[in-house]
Amino acid sequence: MVYPGGVTALEAVSLTVHRGELLAIVGPSGSGKSTLLNIMGTLDRPTSGTVEIGGQDIARLPDRRLSALRGRWLGFVFQQFHLTPGLTAADNVTTGLLYAGVPRRRRPALALEALHRVGLAERAGHLPHQLSGGEQQRVAIARALVNEPALVLADEPTGALDTANGNAVLELLHTLHREGTTIAIITHDRDIAASLPRRVEILDGRLAADTATEGPR
Ligand code: ADP
Repeated sequence: MVYPGGVTALEAVSLTVHRGELLAIVGPSGSGKSTLLNIMGTLDRPTSGTVEIGGQDIARLPDRRLSALRGRWLGFVFQQFHLTPGLTAADNVTTGLLYAGVPRRRRPALALEALHRVGLAERAGHLPHQLSGGEQQRVAIARALVNEPALVLADEPTGALDTANGNAVLELLHTLHREGTTIAIITHDRDIAASLPRRVEILDGRLAADTATEGPR
């Protein structure tokens, strides 16, 4: 991936994520993690190379189809939660269904079910400012999950949380993984990376290591 102005942010990175995996994409600041996240999340198109989601080459899709694919197959969790301030937890989760083709009348039940999975069913009517940071992040995770995406991309999901809340969010991601959700966690934190089953290390825009392609350690 070469940005306008000539910065090569990623080079010769080849990565396959299989259904059901929980992996860390780890590297120091500036190594290219966000660039990789944006490419995996179809938010950016690479200047060379290909991206396939469920066997579909995204280069062939016009922007409108790409947005639909993103809404259907991908879930995003951000460091700063990015909940909509005026909406209840339940309504925030429902926004995760906007592009999924789920009939309007079925959305509330699905949102409540997703909140239940993250342990927040009893907070469904709360506004974001009435929730702790850890709870807000769990709502954001419910929003990412509600659509049963093929892949959840979590960008420094514990970066804005204290240790206890961060650990609770990580524990939740582990639980969701055990329940079958595929999750990639982007992090600069080596301890978080070490706690995950697969680690993909990015250094200076290159893939420095991938435990999935190494022998037993
Ligand atoms: P990380 O997420 O690991 O901190 P990034 O993917 O944000 O790394 O950045 C990788 C490299 O690409 C850095 O050198 C950064 O300055 C550069 N970069 C990131 N985004 C842009 C952009 N939009 N335009 C130009 N250069 C960029």
